[in-house]
Amino acid sequence: MKFKSLFFLFLLFTAAILITNQSPKRQTATAQANDQLIYMPVINSGYDTDLIISSLEITQAVQKADNSVPLVGSKPTIVRVYAQTIAGTPPSGVKVSLTAARNNTLLGTITSTAKIVPKNPQRSDYSSTFNLQLPDSWLSGTVEITATVDVENIVLEYKGNNNYNATLVFNSVPPLDVKIVPINYTHNPTGAFFPGQQQDRISDYLKRTYPVPSVNVSFRGAYNFQGDLRNGNDWVQLLYDVTDLKQTDNAPNSQVYYGLVPIENGATQWFFGGIAGIGWVGWRASVALNLSQSSSGPLAAHEIGHNFGRNHAPCGNPAGVDASYPYAGASIGEYGVDVLNGQLLLPSQYVDMMSYCSPEWVSDYTYQALYNDQLVSGKVLSQARVDGLMIRVRMDEDGRPVLQPVYALTHTPFVGDVSDEYAVELLDVTGEVVGRYPLFTVLAEEEGVSARMWGVSVPMPDVALGGVRVVAGKTAVSERVFTPAAFYTTATPVLKDTADSLVLSWPFSAPTLVRYTIDDGQTWITYALAAEGELVIEKENLPAENGRFQLIPADTTHATLTLDYNN
Ligand SMILES: [Zn+2]
Repeated sequence: MKFKSLFFLFLLFTAAILITNQSPKRQTATAQANDQLIYMPVINSGYDTDLIISSLEITQAVQKADNSVPLVGSKPTIVRVYAQTIAGTPPSGVKVSLTAARNNTLLGTITSTAKIVPKNPQRSDYSSTFNLQLPDSWLSGTVEITATVDVENIVLEYKGNNNYNATLVFNSVPPLDVKIVPINYTHNPTGAFFPGQQQDRISDYLKRTYPVPSVNVSFRGAYNFQGDLRNGNDWVQLLYDVTDLKQTDNAPNSQVYYGLVPIENGATQWFFGGIAGIGWVGWRASVALNLSQSSSGPLAAHEIGHNFGRNHAPCGNPAGVDASYPYAGASIGEYGVDVLNGQLLLPSQYVDMMSYCSPEWVSDYTYQALYNDQLVSGKVLSQARVDGLMIRVRMDEDGRPVLQPVYALTHTPFVGDVSDEYAVELLDVTGEVVGRYPLFTVLAEEEGVSARMWGVSVPMPDVALGGVRVVAGKTAVSERVFTPAAFYTTATPVLKDTADSLVLSWPFSAPTLVRYTIDDGQTWITYALAAEGELVIEKENLPAENGRFQLIPADTTHATLTLDYNN
């Protein structure tokens, strides 16, 4: 009986050769089958079967059907192979392979586990496609890949084309650089102290959702902040402070300064709901709570998304909605894949990280925009620092612009959209205008809180200044009067070194910025943005290295006092 059926199949194979002798693939399969008739039971489909690969989806977080979302070099990548049985019974035990080459040099071949080749693989069904994660060595430059279904040739097919070719272009994108600023928070309503936490609960989620090859998180020394973060105005003040720290630390503009606010200290907690974070739209500084691991990642992705120029996606009724957001209800619009967790994210379930709804992922729209921003703003520019006036204008509680103390120092320049409302003018000691500069502006908006700032970095003027003013057209709206440098340069700061702390004091009361360098002024740690006469620095917040303090009084130029310190 067995012999008879095998013989019958043999006749069929012969017939198949006669009918279609064009296909090398079929001939190979038939020859193999003829040579190894005894293994017939592993051939789980007949001559009427045809397998093809209808498409590939190359995804790093989210992708469109036409693969038009760009690929990022060195970012973990999954290829979804849409292998399909278009004739006959879907065979099982089939493997798919990917072979890659770059500049005609073979990179290698990877092979999937064996499974059934479905009749109708769907984007919405992750298990219906063969999903292969690419080796790291493939993830750069232009890579030609060939996908092959039934790489072990176990299925008899009457047509031979089991391959699909694609060209993958991996783009070089700068890594995402985040400096966490732990906030030592004193909660004014109770006086309770919440020490800043050196915890990174954000980089894992950012790695999975952002179009970057990697996420570099580092920690700055802690910054002391006192207030009531149940109120929007205090959040705005903290955002202003973290913005100042970034500028006066001389941090690269490409780096996100991320103020991280603790919510607990042992059993004591101050946060029971409310504002969780705020970040500038288009300038890389944010502040946010240090929540649980599962909440901190999406929160950081949202605030840093603002820093990358994103407005809100329309779900959960946020202010400042992006009118161009393409999908109703802030759906992610396309299929997401969490590559590191091997999970498909459906557009019918997931909403964009820039909305107020959940569960959140990244839409193709936001991903593309983050990508575009990082290509430009993620680059570390040399010569980016300015030696000059750091002009800062902030909105008071009535929405009016107020010129802040003006410091003359090396700093990271502020950039944004050019304001069509306000400019800044420099006045000499006789009150004559000796310079006029446009102001840049950025906005931050979350539920229950909004902030605006204007700023510009002005090269150090070569004349003594009598003042600086903000003008709307020709009308002065805010002004600061300058003091001659001689008033400060005769002053001598005093440093008292105790076991736990340093006490710096100086004999004038103008707001004074105090910072410390251990690399001869390349970078700084700013300890106070507007101290008056005295500053206590805990030694645990001081680097171990010897260095130099600068004391920079506001509203003057060429009046910086320096103080060497041997730790
Ligand atoms: Zn937001």
